[in-house]
Amino acid sequence: ARTLIAGNWKMNGLRASLVEITAIAGGVTPAKENVEALICVPATLLMQAADQARESALNIGGETCHTNEKGAHTGDVSAEMLADAGASYVIVGHSERRADHDETSEIVASQAAAALRAGITPIICVGETAAERDSGKALEVVTGMLRESLPEGASAESVVIAYEPVWAIGTGNVATVEAVDEMHNALRSCLADVYGAAADLIPILYGGSMKPDNAGDLLAVKNVNGGLIGGASLKATDFLAIYAKA
Ligand code: 13P
Repeated sequence: ARTLIAGNWKMNGLRASLVEITAIAGGVTPAKENVEALICVPATLLMQAADQARESALNIGGETCHTNEKGAHTGDVSAEMLADAGASYVIVGHSERRADHDETSEIVASQAAAALRAGITPIICVGETAAERDSGKALEVVTGMLRESLPEGASAESVVIAYEPVWAIGTGNVATVEAVDEMHNALRSCLADVYGAAADLIPILYGGSMKPDNAGDLLAVKNVNGGLIGGASLKATDFLAIYAKA
């Protein structure tokens, strides 16, 4: 699989933050072979961020999308709108969306299908809570979530998976290399059940307190094909320090 170093700005960033996009775009251009860079930004910044990244190797993405193409859904943004604004990726099923907006895996699968319909790549997020890990159910829960969150009829080339243990997000408690290795192997097997040998083409990203000082160890794990980076993607220097490890 290719490597994807992706940022998720979440609900952060005003127009003044767009200088970071310009710096990141410069830092990832020209692209390294088989490595892609992406920053997913709030919808308010998307069009401007995409304009600033246009001549560079940096991809710009959205953070969620509605399942429908258009219509009476006040406040929502469709995958077609994200694509029109210049996005080439969209995160779906982030644990914060699942928790704050009751997005089930069934909804996430529809959002991923909407992304494919619009011609952009969904990054499908899965991950267990601390309680699920403590009860020894992490592998079962996360592989189950993955199976239910995959859009029907997708090809392996058109999706990206992100494993983000909920307890590691924004906490500084990064998962151990051993736990990541075990989970990513399980996710790869699960993808192979669905896509056969083509499953090897699917990037499986790790997310949760990835920082410049731990990224090298995480990215060296066999089935880790990149990162989904929250806090450390807000500053170009931190993001580029992680990108340098890919
Ligand atoms: P942090 O890198 O801030 O822990 O966030 C991870 C994340 O949720 C990315 O989607």
